[in-house]
This record gives sequence, structure tokens and C-alpha cells, in this order.
Amino acid sequence: MSPTPIAFYPRKPDQLQDRFGRKLTYLRISVTDRCNMRCDYCRPAPDAYRAESHARILRYEEIERIVRVAVDLGVTKVRITGGEPLVRRDLPRLVERLADIPGITDLSMTTNATLLGKYAHDLASAGLGRVNISIDSLNALRFRRLTGGELASVLAGIEAAGSAGLFPIKLNTVLMRDINAGDKHSEVAELIDFASNNAATIRFIELMPMKQGMDWHQHYISIDEVLQRGDVRARVDVDAALETGNTAARYLPLRHGSGVVGFIMPMSARFCEGCNRLRLTADGGLRSCLPADHQLNLRDVIRSGGSDDDIRTLFLRSAMIKPEIGLYDFDADSKKRSMIHIGG
Ligand code: SAM
Repeated sequence: MSPTPIAFYPRKPDQLQDRFGRKLTYLRISVTDRCNMRCDYCRPAPDAYRAESHARILRYEEIERIVRVAVDLGVTKVRITGGEPLVRRDLPRLVERLADIPGITDLSMTTNATLLGKYAHDLASAGLGRVNISIDSLNALRFRRLTGGELASVLAGIEAAGSAGLFPIKLNTVLMRDINAGDKHSEVAELIDFASNNAATIRFIELMPMKQGMDWHQHYISIDEVLQRGDVRARVDVDAALETGNTAARYLPLRHGSGVVGFIMPMSARFCEGCNRLRLTADGGLRSCLPADHQLNLRDVIRSGGSDDDIRTLFLRSAMIKPEIGLYDFDADSKKRSMIHIGG
């Protein structure tokens, strides 16, 4: 009698699946670790921040090659991010290359929108499907203090995304106590109204403790606490069942109209069991878990003459070492990388 086989999760050969049965079909690609804003929650303090040299950043043809292998392994959803992706020269050229790859059913970008006024139409013509736009405050002064950027250019970018047809537009707001949430200065209700008035869906994100220029303990606020506020409850049906799709966000319906509001709760309600993501950093690191400071180096494989099979092997290995649960470390000194370096 042959020995009883070990119960592996069945999978199609050469499809990305981890040890816990999660299919990895979503690749987030950071195209740069540079940004034209300096959000305190995203990058370390200026003296601790240094961008990679251009030579260490993947070229567009290298990114395309990696994505073709990933798609062959079952990836269908690709998001371009950064840093700020639009500060990378000729980004529509990369979009065009990726949009040409058969098998990608969702090609999107996360951006601060400041340069969308200039590029939205070119991006749409190149084949970009949709955009997620970060906006943390509707108060121009507060916005500048937090990000170093101009709110007016973000608003112009949101409008440009709409007129270029980059739908659906999702807005992302990181919640920070004493900045845009909590008893003082809550902008949650105002941001919900802003999104509905602009035919966009807003998602509120809990602050994650990365290597950053902000005290996480001081500014973290849970979604639960935000949902206790009267002005939020007046707008959001907090008693409805949370809608979970296959994304990190959970949604609640608005009380008026047909829209929803999204909540991304990496700290208070992890979504690891449904995680289908891999990340490619701008310098070619392949990362299967956001908080785990562990990545494999695809750039070295490519630049030392590696074959597509070698790239494939690294993807499969990355899937195999994806941890079941992403654990955040609350000791700022122990964290090696900030969001701007990993790609959010
Ligand atoms: N520059 C683009 C932007 O502003 O959207 C893309 C890159 S940014 C790193 C991607 C997302 O990561 C943004 O929505 C940002 O708010 C989020 N993010 C960065 N640091 C974060 C943190 N510590 N906690 C939660 N979200 C964070």
C-alpha cells in the first residue's frame, strides 16, 4: 500500500498559491520611491530618508518582463503605486506596456493626484482602468502641514480623473487622531460628503506603524472609535452588515443615496485570511507581506542574466514564504522600511 499523501492544497501547476491555500492574484508594483509630497505617516523623518539611486530602480522593460511572468502564474490584477507613481518620467509608457499584456483584467493606480491634471487623459488612453486617490484633509492649511502639498492640485486631479473616465474613483484617507479624526478636527463626515458629491467611494484606513516620521501611538485611532461619532452615524448605516468583497476594505451603506463607505482595518481587524497580494518594490524586491520585513531580490536575478524560469522560481518561493498573518511591530526602531520605500 502506498503511503498516505500529505494533504497539500490542490493547485494548478504553476499558479501562485501559498501554504494556506490563498491564491495570489494581485500584484502591486511600486515604480518609484520618490514623492512630490512628504506625508509624515508614509516616510521617515527627513534625516532618515534617502531615495534609491536611479540605477537601482527597475526599468520599464524589466517591470514588464516581471509582470508577464506573474500573469503567467495567475496574477490578474495589477496596481501601479509608489512613492508617487506620476513623478516617474513617462509613466503612460509603462501603462501602455502593461495594458498590452493579455490576462490582466484590472489595471489601476494609487496616486496623490497632484499630477493627474496633467496626465489623466494620457493614462486613460494608454489603458489605465481606474485610480485610487489619497486625500487626508479638505482643509488646505492642514493638508499642507501634513503632506507638504497643495490641496487645490489634488482637487483638480480628482476632477481630471473623472473627465478622463478613470472610474470608479476611490478616495483613500488615513485616519489620524488630532489631525483628521478624533474629538478635535474630525473631518470624517465632511470627507464622506465630499466623496458622495464627487461620485467617488471613500475608504478610511487605520494608521499602520511603519518606519515613519509620526508617532503611531499618539495618532492611531480605530475605525470602531470613528464609527461612534454622531456625525458619522448620521451618514453611515452602522447597523448594516459589513460587506466584504475580495478586497481589504469592508463596506457599510450610506443612509442617504446608494453609495457605500469603505473601512480598511489592518490594525483592529486584520484581513490576512483573504490576502491575495504580492508587492514589487521599486528596486526589485518581491514581498509577500506588507509588515514582514522580508523580500526576495528580483532585480539581481534579472541583472545577472536570469531566465523567465528563474523569475518564476522566485515568485513561487515568495508565495511559499508568505506568512499566515502579517504582524506589525510597534517598536519604531526595529522597522527597516517605510511605506514610501515599500510602495503602499
Ligand atoms: N503617492 C501615492 C498616494 O499618495 O496614494 C501612492 C503611494 S502611498 C504610499 C499609498 C497609500 O499608502 C496611500 O493611500 C497612503 O495614504 C497609504 N499609507 C502610507 N503610509 C501609511 C501608514 N503608515 N498607514 C496607513 N496607510 C498608509
